[in-house]
Amino acid sequence: MSNDILFLAEFAGGKPARSALELAAGAAELASQAGGSAVALAYGSGAADGAASLGAQGAARVIILGDDDRPAISLAATVVAAVRDADALAVLAPATPNGRDLAAALVGMLHVPAFGPVRAARVTDGVLETEQATLQGSVITTARPSDGAPTPSVALVLSGTFTPIEGGSGSAEVEHAPDAGESAFDRATVAESHEAEAKVVNLEEATVIVAGGRGVGGEEGFGPLRDLAAALGGAVGASRAAADAGWIPYQLQIGQTGKVVKPSLYIGAGISGAIQHRVGMQSAEHVIAINRDPDAPIGEFADLFVVGDLFQIVPALTDEIRRRKGAEGA
Ligand SMILES: Cc1cc2nc3c(=O)[nH]c(=O)nc-3n(C[C@H](O)[C@H](O)[C@H](O)COP(=O)(O)OP(=O)(O)OC[C@H]3O[C@@H](n4cnc5c(N)ncnc54)[C@H](O)[C@@H]3O)c2cc1C
Repeated sequence: MSNDILFLAEFAGGKPARSALELAAGAAELASQAGGSAVALAYGSGAADGAASLGAQGAARVIILGDDDRPAISLAATVVAAVRDADALAVLAPATPNGRDLAAALVGMLHVPAFGPVRAARVTDGVLETEQATLQGSVITTARPSDGAPTPSVALVLSGTFTPIEGGSGSAEVEHAPDAGESAFDRATVAESHEAEAKVVNLEEATVIVAGGRGVGGEEGFGPLRDLAAALGGAVGASRAAADAGWIPYQLQIGQTGKVVKPSLYIGAGISGAIQHRVGMQSAEHVIAINRDPDAPIGEFADLFVVGDLFQIVPALTDEIRRRKGAEGA
């Protein structure tokens, strides 16, 4: 077995996704702890063109799995063959829809240990050790493979767990994964795609999320939240109450039965902060809550708790951010 750390690197239009930059930095950090190298498994449109750029982000080598916008699951046989071949210590996968598909394929087909969604990782005593929230987020557990477990360990990593390397230099060696032969997965194609599906990816990769709950009162109540998210360059999310009411697609629901997110900033407006919602966003670096009830549970774990009507506060906040941005640009 090598001490290399593999990571799944998603590309679109020749550029690595934010998750790829974060995992490159994470894999480089873990590889230096293990005494190996960070190796990218790249896929998505333009992956071959953009692959070498991952060298500046910490990757020593990039293996191209696919170079078009086919669904990632169609690459399952290729990724399994490449991972088997690399005989690495661990594989890091982003907690995105494509990352989840490929991680599940790896674990299911290679019968290797799976961890996630992971919010911290390190190499200790030559094995991958991870931290994850369990029991509805009330406990953070540290997990590692049992003695003699097969390698590699596969970890599904939440966005924001690692920070991309700024101003790095270097170029990675690029190679193409060998042809894995025909498999049933090859037949997966994109039948239809919608704007909303793109937003799902944004939610999991977003560094800023503005989430709305029952308190927004209806579909149109998300308008001011969308404006605030746009002013901050972030994405819109929701509680289950808002999704159940049909005000926003389920793909944008955060929580136990929705997405687990880890943005730098989470702003929750008209959300009470039920435990089932909290488990999906409690790893956010900073939490701001806007609620007219001073006793709302979200106030107990928010860094900043603004008590008031969201329909006054959110637009005022948006105006102020726009004003400051305008002043910066002037
Ligand atoms: C098995 C299970 C799984 C679940 N999974 C999830 C999940 O994944 N995600 C999730 O979110 N929930 C989930 N839930 C539901 C969860 O228990 C809560 O019911 C839900 O999160 C409540 O949503 P909310 O905070 O939007 O609504 P509410 O609890 O009704 O809160 C609305 C809040 O808005 C405030 N408000 C109202 N008007 C305004 C205003 N004008 N300005 C400011 N504040 C205002 C109110 O004071 C209140 O605090 C799950 C429940 C179960 C049983």
